[in-house]
Amino acid sequence: MVGASLAGLSAARSLRKQGYDGRLVVIGDEVHRPYDRPPLSKEFLAGGIGEADLALEPDDEDLQAEWLLGTRAAGLGSAPRSVRLTDGREVRADGIVIATGASARTLPGMDGLAGVHTLRTLDDARGLRDELTRGGRLVVIGGGFIGAEVASTAHTLGLDVTIVEAAPTALAGPLGATMGGIVSALHADHGVRLLCGTGVKGLSGETRVDGVLMEDGRSIPADIVVVGIGARPCVEWLVGSRVQLADGVRCGADGRTSLAGVVAVGDCASWYDPRAGTHRRVEHWTGARERPDAAVAALLSWGESEPGIPRPPYFWSDQYGVKIQFVGNAARADSVTIEDGTVDDRNVLAVYRRAGHPVAVLGMNQPRLFMRWRKQLAARTS
Ligand SMILES: Cc1cc2nc3c(=O)[nH]c(=O)nc-3n(C[C@H](O)[C@H](O)[C@H](O)COP(=O)(O)OP(=O)(O)OC[C@H]3O[C@@H](n4cnc5c(N)ncnc54)[C@H](O)[C@@H]3O)c2cc1C
Repeated sequence: MVGASLAGLSAARSLRKQGYDGRLVVIGDEVHRPYDRPPLSKEFLAGGIGEADLALEPDDEDLQAEWLLGTRAAGLGSAPRSVRLTDGREVRADGIVIATGASARTLPGMDGLAGVHTLRTLDDARGLRDELTRGGRLVVIGGGFIGAEVASTAHTLGLDVTIVEAAPTALAGPLGATMGGIVSALHADHGVRLLCGTGVKGLSGETRVDGVLMEDGRSIPADIVVVGIGARPCVEWLVGSRVQLADGVRCGADGRTSLAGVVAVGDCASWYDPRAGTHRRVEHWTGARERPDAAVAALLSWGESEPGIPRPPYFWSDQYGVKIQFVGNAARADSVTIEDGTVDDRNVLAVYRRAGHPVAVLGMNQPRLFMRWRKQLAARTS
């Protein structure tokens, strides 16, 4: 197992559940045992929970695994299936699960400038949380989900918050322009400025950031800056190997890679989506938790089993006390209609359709109705 986070841990659990009782080695470059990332932009950042609450393993769980933490994989080794580590060691295996996730994208010129943060790891969250407790003006670069959640948390902590987003509407990528606009109106409801349609040229400040320079010439003063411009799959260690890469590790509909005995799961993996007929990398907690079951089944029965159809991708987000839930693929839709609730109350159930058939569903504070639709969508498309 390369990657000791949600997808790696879930794959280890699946292996044991599916009867594998051999040697299991988990290699992870962070020094921490697996922890949960969603609270890093929510309750943990707000100070509502501590580090112990992030643990993904219950105290009594023992997977009989060898944990090589603080250890980075440098590549696949020369043996048919082996992993080369940066310290020179090589781990040989009968099967390999690639679960190296993704890392936050950065902006040129941000390295070494105090007050500028990305948010992906526990260490990132510790640093940002310390800074936010001092208050001041926060500028979030990027109006995606992580940026929006950081803005919402910082607002509750009393900071003065501005979000800048290069696209004409925030969240248009995952939700489409109409619903992206409706969900991101939550910022204005709470007095958080959302400036769309202009890119960022750079950051100002000598040793510490003091502003964000916009492409239209404006300068937005800042005491703290969070760069939330997406993530890139951690697959550089596989470049030059026989594992095919294309926006992450290219996989079949059950996580099989181009190399026999090697599967990939979680944020680093671009699985074939039989519904859309294309490959798609999803960076969602539920996919990292659920899909390892299928990948491990494929690993244990290589060449003997046919891939099933994974459940449609699902994610949630919490912003300003509103629960946002989404399932499916908005990019496939040719229409979207609000089926329940009202936009003004920020209480909406919207269904995305293609040629009249549902392909995605969005809920804002509609957990029960949303769950019904989620089940229906999974049943329809399986
Ligand atoms: C702040 C934040 C909030 C989020 N909120 C939500 C949410 O509300 N809802 C939702 O659905 N999803 C959310 N997510 C996404 C969710 O957390 C991810 O989808 C999930 O963590 C993916 O798990 P993973 O194991 O695939 O990857 P990761 O959690 O990224 O873990 C990969 C691990 O592999 C390690 N690694 C990388 N390269 C190597 C190497 N060469 N050798 C060894 N180890 C390596 C990494 O350091 C890391 O520890 C959020 C993510 C973040 C960062």
